[in-house]
Amino acid sequence: MKKLIIVIAGLAAFLSITFYFVSHQKTQQTARTTQLKVVTTNSILEDMVEQISGNKLKIYSIVARGTDPHEYDPRPKDITATTDADIIFHNGLNLETGGNGWFKKLIKTANKREGKEVFAVSKNVQPLYLTTNVKERDPHAWLDLGNGIKYVKEITQVLKDKDPKNADYYQKRSDNYIVKLQKLDSEAKNKFLDIPEDQRLLVTSEGAFKYFSKAYHVTPAYIWEINTEAQGTPEQMENVLEKINASKVKSLFLETSVSPKSMNKVASEVGLPIYSKIFTDSLAKKGTDGDTYYDMMKWNLDKIYDGLK
Ligand SMILES: [Zn+2]
Repeated sequence: MKKLIIVIAGLAAFLSITFYFVSHQKTQQTARTTQLKVVTTNSILEDMVEQISGNKLKIYSIVARGTDPHEYDPRPKDITATTDADIIFHNGLNLETGGNGWFKKLIKTANKREGKEVFAVSKNVQPLYLTTNVKERDPHAWLDLGNGIKYVKEITQVLKDKDPKNADYYQKRSDNYIVKLQKLDSEAKNKFLDIPEDQRLLVTSEGAFKYFSKAYHVTPAYIWEINTEAQGTPEQMENVLEKINASKVKSLFLETSVSPKSMNKVASEVGLPIYSKIFTDSLAKKGTDGDTYYDMMKWNLDKIYDGLK
């Protein structure tokens, strides 16, 4: 009898522990499946969404770090993620729809619609236009922190609308993040003014610095205007060499997401060093310098200042 009681008690204890673990696991699974799925086209937007949402969302970013988001061929897993996504953020301003227009095809395949699941984070940005094709908007608005803040505000609004139970959480994180970006932006506004104007020429491969130059008072010079066009043609090389020779600039820069071939050629032609790598269309690999939007901008501002000075 005693033995039987011990066995029954043991069995009951075992069953209740098992029940606890099974139900606990179930709650965790439910929490996971109710997590909204967000897709971003590139690492800059991925980081902004992460800064605002903490660990509340499941984020998938399409174009790998260190590669060009202008031209891209979506892989099967990109199509699956986009099809499953509740929210899809893209830069807009023809970043993903210039060139081969990969993003337009992707959202059509995934059956997603602009304004419903698909949102352009640059919605409230005042666009600048290309000089070689005056009808086409320049996509690189995020390189002005003032525009980056507009991106953050737009992402925050969409997340609050789509996930109202976490709205306060998103707003609070977003407000703190914006304070940090605003501080860097106001420091950058006067940063370059102590460098003589004829020395303040920012030479890069792609003309990605129109918004940056306007915000922070440097003059942009580049080999090609946008990554979707031919890169390093004799005419483009001649133009940039002329601009460099007419200035007193001391060094050149190389973006992490372009081929170094043309800039190396420019450097040897004019006898100037490439001072540093800088970040334009992509963040650095996670765990390295420049792996967040804030760090990328800080890196660019500091390196460009030092190189021009
Ligand atoms: Zn670009």
